[in-house]
Amino acid sequence: MLEIKNLHVKLEEEDKVILKGVDLTVEAGKVHAIMGPNGSGKSTLSYVLSGKDGYEVTDGAATLEGEDVLEMEPEERAAAGIFLAFQYPVEIPGVGNMTFLRTAVNAQRKARGEEEISAADFLKLVREKAKSLKIDAEMLKRPVNVGFSGGEKKRNEILQMAVLEPKMCILDETDSGLDVDAMKLVAEGVNALRDEGRAFLVITHYQRLLDHIKPDVVHIMADGRIVKTGGPELALEVEQNGYAGILGEVA
Ligand code: ADP
Ligand code: MG
Ligand code: MG
Repeated sequence: MLEIKNLHVKLEEEDKVILKGVDLTVEAGKVHAIMGPNGSGKSTLSYVLSGKDGYEVTDGAATLEGEDVLEMEPEERAAAGIFLAFQYPVEIPGVGNMTFLRTAVNAQRKARGEEEISAADFLKLVREKAKSLKIDAEMLKRPVNVGFSGGEKKRNEILQMAVLEPKMCILDETDSGLDVDAMKLVAEGVNALRDEGRAFLVITHYQRLLDHIKPDVVHIMADGRIVKTGGPELALEVEQNGYAGILGEVA
């Protein structure tokens, strides 16, 4: 699904290199987790894949189902099936959550040459998905994320994902700021979307999310590279020994 080779990224405005040769292959149907200390470049990787500006790719490649992702505009990446749930979801005053979601769904349909969704079908779709994430109807009427609690914002990210049904779902620390119940809802939302045709990249600091979203593969990122890859046991090792143990071993 996603293939990243030797990806080097620096900031556009400064001579600061953040990603120093990331290699990562995520197969369709799999859940890969990326863990790693703060500042190792996890969010930067997710931003570069989804097309945020401010970063310059100086070397390497990233493809989605064989298509060059780095050449695409952000909206083309979304239409191709890349979705990023933000570490810090943005508030958008003046734009209703329903309008936002419907615009996103229709943009995706348009890019695929499909007809717009009818108002009735859209309402049905969103209500069904919102219910499973325990998002109440009142939250759907409010402007995107405005006045939402941390947990509500994160659940709203997963609602967007559930509605858009992307192929490559990237979750950047979606568990941070969530209490245990909200984290379980988020994990259930993700697990409900697990499918042979879909892949996940779950970025997290803590092992606890991975108790609920069982990863197939766990990677440790440090200083702009994937330094270790293993199975779910690697996340437990982090929990027990911290990153210092693993990084010392790799060094
Ligand atoms: P992580 O998500 O693993 O905590 P980030 O990708 O957020 O790491 O950041 C990696 C490094 O790049 C950090 O040292 C961070 O301060 C730096 N960085 C990222 N984006 C910017 C930016 N726009 N301006 C300055 N420094 C940045
Ligand atoms: Mg961070
Ligand atoms: Mg981050």
